[in-house]
Amino acid sequence: MMRLPRFRFVAPRTIDEAATALAEAPSDTMLLAGGTDLLPNMKRRQQVPRTLVSLRHVDALHAIHNGDGLTIGAGMTLTGLVRSQLVRNSCAGLWQAAAQVATPHLRNMGTIGGNLCLDTRCTYYDQTYEWRQAIGFCMKKAGDICWVATSSPRCLAVSSTDTAPMLQALGATVRLVSAAGERRIAVADLFANDGINYLTRRPDEILTQIHVPSQTGWRSTYWKLRRRGSFDFPVASAAVAARMDGARLLEARVVLGAVASRPLTSARAESILRDVDLTDEVIASAADAAFEIAKPMDNTDFELIWRKRMVRTLVTYALRELRGDDVTPLRVSLARQSLLQPTAG
Ligand SMILES: Cc1cc2nc3c(=O)[nH]c(=O)nc-3n(C[C@H](O)[C@H](O)[C@H](O)COP(=O)(O)OP(=O)(O)OC[C@H]3O[C@@H](n4cnc5c(N)ncnc54)[C@H](O)[C@@H]3O)c2cc1C
Ligand code: SF4
Repeated sequence: MMRLPRFRFVAPRTIDEAATALAEAPSDTMLLAGGTDLLPNMKRRQQVPRTLVSLRHVDALHAIHNGDGLTIGAGMTLTGLVRSQLVRNSCAGLWQAAAQVATPHLRNMGTIGGNLCLDTRCTYYDQTYEWRQAIGFCMKKAGDICWVATSSPRCLAVSSTDTAPMLQALGATVRLVSAAGERRIAVADLFANDGINYLTRRPDEILTQIHVPSQTGWRSTYWKLRRRGSFDFPVASAAVAARMDGARLLEARVVLGAVASRPLTSARAESILRDVDLTDEVIASAADAAFEIAKPMDNTDFELIWRKRMVRTLVTYALRELRGDDVTPLRVSLARQSLLQPTAG
């Protein structure tokens, strides 16, 4: 049985108290929300903070408000989001992304803030201490080489959060609070394409709120590739938001998940999807453009060339859904294709 390392536990009641506790030693302290990612990581000694600051009893982080868009407290659980009729009606894509995270039990504990700040993943990293020690560790923790690409100067671990690509496509912003003050940044600016330093959040900052601007006139959807449809992390995903006027597509945002160390926006797909009728040909061109920027590596489930090819499929299915096609057969086909794929390596 893997045991947690020793740590000091702090349970503040307010955001100010949490920020003060974090400011004492930011590089040796971590925030604990639902703990569904952090605690297993600590058991594997991937992260060994001396202090954990729990956000569980900070009531201000659990609220959701509607008014000029949706303001969601970072401590809201994914189950809370999925049960919110407000989220389902106003941001269908966010509802779909949250509903597809992990399992019901993990969603009961896991929060939206923890999901956005989720550690990046890699076959050579998400292993026990002994396993990693046997290969001499790797650049992300305690080693100096990347086993995925030995000449790579940076870690290529995969951004594996479901809600981040969708929130980026919805044009959301986040509020970051520290003892020194606060700032708001776009979700798109929260991430960096680096498997180690994957967040631009400073270690002394708490992500307290997510703001999704009004989605009036917009439709959104989230498509996810994973082995088991009721459990697994994404290994490729497409988050698409589109402003429509009847059948005419006025503008769209296309963001890919799990094919780099951060969610990736396809600027070329977005320019193809500007003021057009959403014909099969337009959808195919946009899907090709998204396919070009996907750079999956050989460090997660599925063979990487197939994963890259599936980006085209995910974007196509997402755009067909936004056009109003019946996508039930497409969802069944995606699940079947995933189950039949051999494991990588
Ligand atoms: C079997 C399994 C399957 C999973 N499948 C998926 C999946 O399909 N999709 C997916 O996206 N995730 C998946 N997860 C990961 C995880 O359960 C979710 O991402 C969850 O939402 C994480 O939230 P949490 O509150 O538990 O985060 P925690 O584990 O508490 O924290 C995660 C990270 O975020 C930081 N953090 C938390 N809250 C804040 C905050 N407010 N401000 C700043 N930093 C913060 C923590 O310090 C830590 O670094 C899976 C996990 C398991 C164990
Ligand atoms: S991508 Fe390379 S450096 Fe990063 S976790 Fe994997 S093996 Fe380690």
